[in-house]
Amino acid sequence: MKNQKSILIKNGTIVTLGEKNKVLTGHALLIENGLIKKIAPQKSFKGKYAKVIDAAGKVVMPGFINAHMHFYSTFARGLGKAAPSRNFTEILSNLWWRLDKKLTTQDSYYSAAIPLIDAVRKGTTTLIDHHASPFAIKGSLAAIEKAVRETGLRGCLCYELSDRDGAETAKAGLDENSEFIRRAAASGGNTIKAMFGLHASFTLTDGTLEEAAYRGHKLGVGFHIHTAESQADQLHCESHYKMRVLERLRGFGILGKQSIAAHCVHVSDAEINILKETGTAVVHNPQSNANNSVGIADIVKMTARGVLTGLGTDAMTVNMFEELRAALWLQHLKHDPSQGFMEAFNALAVNNAKIANRYFTGLGELKEGFAADVILMDYFPPTPMDASNFAGHLIFGLSQSAVDTTIAAGRVLMEGKKLKLDLDEEEVSRKSAELAKKLWSRF
Ligand SMILES: [Zn+2]
Repeated sequence: MKNQKSILIKNGTIVTLGEKNKVLTGHALLIENGLIKKIAPQKSFKGKYAKVIDAAGKVVMPGFINAHMHFYSTFARGLGKAAPSRNFTEILSNLWWRLDKKLTTQDSYYSAAIPLIDAVRKGTTTLIDHHASPFAIKGSLAAIEKAVRETGLRGCLCYELSDRDGAETAKAGLDENSEFIRRAAASGGNTIKAMFGLHASFTLTDGTLEEAAYRGHKLGVGFHIHTAESQADQLHCESHYKMRVLERLRGFGILGKQSIAAHCVHVSDAEINILKETGTAVVHNPQSNANNSVGIADIVKMTARGVLTGLGTDAMTVNMFEELRAALWLQHLKHDPSQGFMEAFNALAVNNAKIANRYFTGLGELKEGFAADVILMDYFPPTPMDASNFAGHLIFGLSQSAVDTTIAAGRVLMEGKKLKLDLDEEEVSRKSAELAKKLWSRF
């Protein structure tokens, strides 16, 4: 992973994304010191560059952003020991709340390193994660930070605090968030950011929410919380607090422009208004919602009402194309095949950048002065391609193509489909499998 001072990418088709997407041919893109220095007609680049990448037959576009992720779920792959679950709360108690309790800090590091390496392969350069390891909380976010830095990607991290394991564990979760938010502010730069993580309304007492809100506001960050993912969250809120989940969260000051409400599958019209009024971002996770059989979030309606709606994977994958396509199919199922196309595309291609840029600077668009998070994908357009129909090419064509090169912060992390990381993928995977085996014996 070498830090090249200047990289010129030429002969490719440049797709800028951003609110005014441009599809440029005959242009080149110059990266300098981790930023996009210039995008201009190719003939205007006459200098000497430390590195020149020939992107002929490739689309050059911004790295993808995954707006809701759980690195810690890695060791569940192939576990096969959890009892079959009939609903969402059983999935939590049979699988996730058994797995996360067994995680050590070393497990958290390897659980993160594996999907991060995969993210380089899939062209996902920024991940907003939500971590849980209730019996190894202290220092868990620093361990994940280490993995993010070692892969050269960007991460916005938080600890998913809850009251499900008692007051002491809740306190440790509060402290881990506070400490890591300070650490990220001091030394995270534009690489590592932090939010205040909360599990969900149904696992948080009033006292803990109040303390989290107090701390989060003082530290100047927003909250990242699962919101109305299944109907059980609403039923719990209505029976215990006589209100809806978003009313409860608003009451504590958990919502706002810096906050992410993940899922929002079961929200009423009044709650959509609360999301809009507070400027809270919603992150849609269609594959997870289908897998957990919790329902389909109405991103058509939320978008029409002016709610900023992005796309996450909830740890189902780091391949944002899979999630994009799942988002579209599910909106078709929910509504009809005429709906959801631009909502799904914009969630990934436009809104995730808006959400990430509430913390980071200059992500998600190829623009002079923006971050040099750039991917190259193999693609010969078999039909005319321009800004007006790029969404169709992305969903039905590029989604089936390979990522060839991944650059983050001006560093080439993969080139010609070969990883250029300091981490040895095979060695990290071998160690991960060894630790997973131990964790499974404790499960
Ligand atoms: Zn989640």
